[in-house]
Amino acid sequence: MSKTDLRDLTLDELKLAVEELGEKPFRAKQIFSWLHQKGAESFEEFKNIPQALREKIGEKYYISKLDIVEKLVSKDGTVKYLFDIGDGILIESVLMKYSYGCALCISTQAGCRMGCKFCASTLDGLERNLSASEILNQVYTIKKDSGENIHSIVLMGSGEPLDNFENVVKFLYIINHPEGMGLGMRHITLSTCGLTEKIEELSKLKLQLTLAISLHAPNDDIRKKTMPVANKYPLESIVKAAVNYSKATGRRVTYEYALIKGVNDSKENALELSARLKGTLCHVNLIPVNDVKENDFIRAEERNIQEFASVLTQKGIETTVRRKLGSDINAACGQLRKKYKRC
Ligand code: SF4
Repeated sequence: MSKTDLRDLTLDELKLAVEELGEKPFRAKQIFSWLHQKGAESFEEFKNIPQALREKIGEKYYISKLDIVEKLVSKDGTVKYLFDIGDGILIESVLMKYSYGCALCISTQAGCRMGCKFCASTLDGLERNLSASEILNQVYTIKKDSGENIHSIVLMGSGEPLDNFENVVKFLYIINHPEGMGLGMRHITLSTCGLTEKIEELSKLKLQLTLAISLHAPNDDIRKKTMPVANKYPLESIVKAAVNYSKATGRRVTYEYALIKGVNDSKENALELSARLKGTLCHVNLIPVNDVKENDFIRAEERNIQEFASVLTQKGIETTVRRKLGSDINAACGQLRKKYKRC
């Protein structure tokens, strides 16, 4: 009989599992806390659980953990982790240090099938979805390894989170649970390339997380040049879904906009974008894109970045330019993993 990963269960699922073993439901809370608050990696660590019950659990379940393959530390303190999730499949996570605390960028899929042309994660397509526990374990392993408190999490590593909807939602409920790590939803950002129907599905859950949408273009024609997903989801439908998300949750939506030299970084592009977003509850995050060796896209010039930002601000759109961290350690998603796979 194949065993189930205990870390993959929500507290309600764990209660059922414990009851099936003939035990009282309060044991589930204790076990959940060992797994998600105290970061236990073996049944022996379940100090307040009787030995007989630990053995019973061990017959049906196991506790997953992640192996660190490599860790790169940048001059600015950013740490990039490469993990092996079995069968030679590698995923990446990045720990970033800010004045307010540490943020963690984690992956939700091994590879990605969305095909964005500026992204190294998608070059070999999707390998597979990550389970909820594999997403959680990135957080727990890095927390333990670094000794840092995690202030916030961004689902912005490799993978399209909404293409792995069920496991990602499970991850969100578990990481947010007060009996577990208890990370506030407002400290979590989910980044999507704009799968409209999934954004609508997410809205119905009324979670307080920040929805970040990778827009990267002011119109569909330009978007299609860099994001094949634009052929299926027109910008108009994405902005409409984002507005519905804001209405359902009261949350401001972030639009991510990677500035690529000569593709989407002109003043006209900025004016068109501001017209499209006018009157919506939003924030634009401009990203000076990392160069990807495998394609022709290169970082926009500094003066274009500044002009783009000032046009948006003048038009009343709240705008920031993302600080570039970890540029000396291949910190853009998929770059380290790619380097390994080529070896
Ligand atoms: S940017 Fe995100 S959605 Fe697009 S290919 Fe990369 S990982 Fe996938």
